[in-house]
Amino acid sequence: MFRVCPEGTFRKRRDGVVIHDPRQCAGCGTCVRACPFGAIKYSLRTGKVDKCNFCADRLDVNLKPVCIEACPTGALRHLSVFEEHPPSALRTVPGFGKIILTRPSTRFLISGNLRQDGGDVKS
Ligand code: SF4
Ligand code: SF4
Repeated sequence: MFRVCPEGTFRKRRDGVVIHDPRQCAGCGTCVRACPFGAIKYSLRTGKVDKCNFCADRLDVNLKPVCIEACPTGALRHLSVFEEHPPSALRTVPGFGKIILTRPSTRFLISGNLRQDGGDVKS
């Protein structure tokens, strides 16, 4: 996204959060087509794109992102990029977009035998 946006609307914080500034967005849609994770959405209402900002304003005051607090099964966790991750933290799972270009900070904590190379889930 950083390289494809002609307006330079994306920046990555030191904590790994990617921020998009809609004020500079021209709505060309290039980033929507480039993102392998489908994370960026075009709004017909605003004529611009938007994306999750990991509730960066909440992180700045030591609050968790809203979805982490709201999830009734505790499926989401916030892992710091500055701390060592658990050995079970996988960089990708089957169905996730290609990580080779963007190197996302997302990690998957799974309990089953899910292959990291995108293979089948074993029972
Ligand atoms: S839609 Fe906006 S953010 Fe995306 S590439 Fe175009 S100008 Fe940049
Ligand atoms: S609630 Fe979750 S999905 Fe929504 S902006 Fe915050 S971190 Fe992103």
